[in-house]
Amino acid sequence: MVEVPAGGDGELRRFILERHPVRGFWIRLDGAWREMRRHQRYPSPVEALLGEAVTASLLLAATLKFHGTLTLQLAGDGLVNLLVAQCTHEFVIRAVARFDDGIDGAIAFRQLVGDGRLTVTIEAEERSARYQGIVALAGATLAECLENYFATSEQLPTRIALAADSVSTGGVLLQKLPAAAGAQGEALAAVSQHVWEDLQPRVATLDASLLRLGPAEQVLQRVCGEHDCRLFQGSPVRFACRCSEGRVAGLLRSLGPDEMRSILAEQGAVTVTCEFCGRPYRFDAIDVERLFTGGANPEAPHSLN
Ligand SMILES: [Zn+2]
Repeated sequence: MVEVPAGGDGELRRFILERHPVRGFWIRLDGAWREMRRHQRYPSPVEALLGEAVTASLLLAATLKFHGTLTLQLAGDGLVNLLVAQCTHEFVIRAVARFDDGIDGAIAFRQLVGDGRLTVTIEAEERSARYQGIVALAGATLAECLENYFATSEQLPTRIALAADSVSTGGVLLQKLPAAAGAQGEALAAVSQHVWEDLQPRVATLDASLLRLGPAEQVLQRVCGEHDCRLFQGSPVRFACRCSEGRVAGLLRSLGPDEMRSILAEQGAVTVTCEFCGRPYRFDAIDVERLFTGGANPEAPHSLN
């Protein structure tokens, strides 16, 4: 029996094997996952895929050293045309999916994504550097597609398990790191390879409810078993979108007063919905006039106008 977790947004924890070059990450999203979809409605198969993708983006980010944004994108000819999951190095998430009408009931991953590509883009803040890795969407699950990504792009043996429903998501990433060089290193590498062969199938057998609801210690017990394993302190995960009333006001102002007044006359108010998080921003007649009189300029709160 798995205990239902207490509240909280979400947590990511690193772990290592004490005696072998194997590391991993455990993650669970609770409040952050629900908060992210506050203004979005998805059919349950799309929702589960979105949850797995956002969880995967965090696991990917955890394996890297970067300052900026990581974007995981699935684009194919299936029922889900486009899925974008994004997280920062501080584990701030947002995500969105575009899909065909009429999705109902249980739908397999392959049918959801179709044939297409999985793209991982890392945009570093300071150096405006950009890295992009692309692999074909080959695999029966998103986890398998990502294992394929690691095998081709990073060339590190990696096993991933993901699970998501409307309430919570969970995931585990297990990775074999390169062994030390030299004769002693070679001997150790053979032992470590043996350990890796033993551990990696266990990731695939983790059940979804344990991933979504179980404590990190219990999940690790299943993966690492008798091998000494060290679990580190967790990092919090939270949701935040970059949209704001000020940004929307700036966009509307750029369209000009005539355009705005004609929308007002037609619809009574101007409503803009954030493409990423689905949050609606509504501007009534008074709000629109304020945009163009300079009385309240949310873009420039310190303006003297
Ligand atoms: Zn937004």
